[in-house]
Amino acid sequence: MDNSILNKYKAVIGLEVHCQLLTLSKIYSADSTAYGSPPNTNVGVISLAHPGTLPRLNKRVVELAIRMGFACNSEISRHQIFDRKNYFYPDLPKGYQITQDRTPVCKEGFVAITTKSGRKNIELQKIHIEEDAGKSMHQENGSATQVDFNRAGVPLIEIVTKPVISTAEDAGAFLSEVRKLVRYLDICDGNMEEGSLRCDANVSVMPMGSTVLGRKVEVKNMNSVRNVQKAIEYEIERQVTLLERGEGILSETRTFNAGDGKTYGMRTKEELNDYRYFPDPDLSPLEVSDEWLAQIRSGMPALPEQLFQKFVAEYSLSAYDAGVLTETKELASYFEQVCRHTRNFKAASNWVMGPVKSYLNDQGILANKCPVSGQALADLIGLIDKGQINFSTASQKVFPEMILNPAMEPIVIARELNLLQESDLDSILPIVEEVIKEFPLKVEEFRNGKRGIMRMFMGEVMKRSKGKADPKIATELLEKKLIES
Ligand code: ADP
Ligand code: MG
Repeated sequence: MDNSILNKYKAVIGLEVHCQLLTLSKIYSADSTAYGSPPNTNVGVISLAHPGTLPRLNKRVVELAIRMGFACNSEISRHQIFDRKNYFYPDLPKGYQITQDRTPVCKEGFVAITTKSGRKNIELQKIHIEEDAGKSMHQENGSATQVDFNRAGVPLIEIVTKPVISTAEDAGAFLSEVRKLVRYLDICDGNMEEGSLRCDANVSVMPMGSTVLGRKVEVKNMNSVRNVQKAIEYEIERQVTLLERGEGILSETRTFNAGDGKTYGMRTKEELNDYRYFPDPDLSPLEVSDEWLAQIRSGMPALPEQLFQKFVAEYSLSAYDAGVLTETKELASYFEQVCRHTRNFKAASNWVMGPVKSYLNDQGILANKCPVSGQALADLIGLIDKGQINFSTASQKVFPEMILNPAMEPIVIARELNLLQESDLDSILPIVEEVIKEFPLKVEEFRNGKRGIMRMFMGEVMKRSKGKADPKIATELLEKKLIES
């Protein structure tokens, strides 16, 4: 679509992010939350809502939710009520979902995002606790629908932003940041493909300069950050097109189709659902004590933001380096292990962002599974700093060997592969002299000002020394001898 038309409108986006919490058992029963179990095997009488059964709140759920609240600078509700949200759906055994309507575990707060245009805070409306529903599986030929209740009663938090996001890019940055936070906090695995992190996007557009929000459309079913962005971009253009044609926007829920990148209407919000919220009489209100809050706070892990500041301040790294190194807590912690054994923090950063990270990406593993210990990598950096080996040999020959033989020290590997550099003049000098003697014409050219020839001489020296000559010393010797001879 023409930018001049798009620019006549302002998009308004609010996100609702559901995160499955990493508890071992469900929110109101002892049933397992394990993902991928055979259908309907993690379903006791409470999950199935048998008459006469009573829910009992899993305390851990509230602790994990409060951790997220702390990380988002939210206000924690000290008095919480669990409400019934009534609706009928085949995957909802009780005929209602237990959620928090008026007393969400966390109120307000924000998540900071960084994009090309800088850093900003995305404000939250609330975070509330609720239970997941089961899953309907429609058979492809349309003959039947089967229901798997394993997921029913798995604890969720829902993070709801205010309608303050204005671009698909910011929405993506927010979602990535939330995923990073829940992983740092160890409260959700953040896996969007398996549905443990899900995002609904509310999108509306209004004429530039207007202060009245447009009618919103809610888009569901995006299973990656990229798809959330695509769905929002598509939805903005679709709504602008309708308004330009003088047509209205229907308040509705739409589904995103990753195949064609379009959204399709599912149901209109015209017939407003009446959920008849009321406090669940089977669960008493929850009081959050000072002691409990203090205990949860003291168990908070370091957050990416704090580590970022620390890496910039203590290790003098650039914002770029600090950003990459804090992408996951595993990478940040690995980097810190390296720094415990070297003072060359910049080299440590380059190694972790370079060879280490590309190895991890290749293998699809996190840094805590890196076979090379922080100590061993620091030792390798030490060899380079002492001129015993150069970076390219270290990264191309020694590092891969360290991965295969994690118990071997880098110096031992370098020695065994005969890669230790000769930095003593006595061993390099004869090679330099030999090369100069062999190429008198090139020497002539060099003296006539063709300085580029130096590269060819260096290449010869390195080749004859099997890559072991210290390049700095070889260069110095060559320059001296070329002028002398
Ligand atoms: P609902 O009652 O439909 O769930 P809420 O007011 O609870 O609506 O808001 C749900 C989400 O929709 C929030 O993330 C909020 O920021 C967002 N939202 C509300 N109004 C708009 C709007 N006009 N345009 C875009 N997003 C909106
Ligand atoms: Mg909603």
